[in-house]
Amino acid sequence: MAEKITMGAGGALRVPDEPIVPFIQGDGTGIDIWPAAQLVMDAAAAKHGKRISWKEVLAGEKAYKETGDWLPEETVETFREYLIGIKGPLTTPVGGGIRSLNVALRQLLDLYVCLRPVRWFSGVPSPVKHPEKVDMVIFRENTEDIYAGLEVEEGTPEAARLIDLLHDAFGWEIRKDSGIGIKPVSETGSKRLVRAALNYAVRHGRKSVTLVHKGNIQKFTEGAFRNWGYELVREEFADVAVGWDDCGGDPGGKILVKDAIADITLQQVLTRPDEFDVIATTNLNGDYLSDALAAQVGGIGIAPGGNINYVSGHGIFEATHGTAPKYAGQDKVNPGSLLLSGVMMFEHLEWLDAARDIVSALERTIAEKIVTYDFARLMEGATEVKCSEFAQAIVERL
Ligand code: NAP
Repeated sequence: MAEKITMGAGGALRVPDEPIVPFIQGDGTGIDIWPAAQLVMDAAAAKHGKRISWKEVLAGEKAYKETGDWLPEETVETFREYLIGIKGPLTTPVGGGIRSLNVALRQLLDLYVCLRPVRWFSGVPSPVKHPEKVDMVIFRENTEDIYAGLEVEEGTPEAARLIDLLHDAFGWEIRKDSGIGIKPVSETGSKRLVRAALNYAVRHGRKSVTLVHKGNIQKFTEGAFRNWGYELVREEFADVAVGWDDCGGDPGGKILVKDAIADITLQQVLTRPDEFDVIATTNLNGDYLSDALAAQVGGIGIAPGGNINYVSGHGIFEATHGTAPKYAGQDKVNPGSLLLSGVMMFEHLEWLDAARDIVSALERTIAEKIVTYDFARLMEGATEVKCSEFAQAIVERL
């Protein structure tokens, strides 16, 4: 019988064998990748005696056409009620109009962690020599920083007022023709993000957590993030983790918590990827870092993500690429990002066998060079298949 996922005692999810899981198909290529990913998820779950009762909810263009609303209240409420969901990509109009639907969903449900595991699957074409050395998990803060949406546009009365206020109150000289964005970074937001990263590192036997920040310039936001991270280690994780400054770089069997400036990190993840393990970072850094890293292991066609609140139990897993509108409806693009988001969701639900099966079937399919166009153009002797055929090939290898 189909049932809701609920939050059990002790903050762990209680997952029935037939959970009801809301999903957003997504705009553009969502129409192609959703059925492909669903086919594989259903087959893998069935192999282990499970079944997902999918519940479609609307957002984006499809929602707007059917309800006149880009993000209907009912969709948010359904995710709130059923805790765990998954989504395809959504269109974000540029410059004004509706705010990003993805950002809105994250903020409305307070999904404070954007989780992006970045690892290489054997056979996937990569621009670097040793993609097998890339195995990082990024914890990106998801609710603060310049993504908080606190911006005023150049030339508006609001901008003029803010510029005057900042001049009067702080003596700050800001050009009159400026737009202004506010970057809040709080102790609460920073510590709960770093706490989630440390808990993950403990649970998965990871060796280090790197706090990535731009604190040399932005001292009271990015620098504070770093300081609060180290403070949290001392306050709550002293038995299992230790900060670099407190151990001189020798953690003695504990998890080593270190920090790195964002710009040098973008170099070092390329040149010394094996020195990075779990990464905890602020919102904008995390955005850049996760896409840059995804490029090393096969690009955004295969990079998954999850947005999670570990306290309330809410989580929405999502393809990290956009709607790729030029390919919409062509049954062409790679469903890997959405499918691997499904794998992350299965892992989050502790359906570990089904998750592992999908990954190994995906690896076998790619090893046999059966791939979609994005990989085919980078591989010698590949058999290019459609999105749906790729999913079918994975199911055959489950
Ligand atoms: P995009 O949709 O991610 O597409 C950029 C390029 O990435 C595509 O042209 C394609 O490259 C490649 N790509 C995307 N999806 C792929 C897939 N499944 N398989 C293989 N390759 C894939 O980015 P965009 O064109 O900048 O954005 C389009 C719309 O999506 C915008 O409205 C944007 O706001 C929105 N968006 C949504 C999300 C989200 O919902 N999470 C994220 C980002 C953007 P090639 O052309 O080289 O083949």
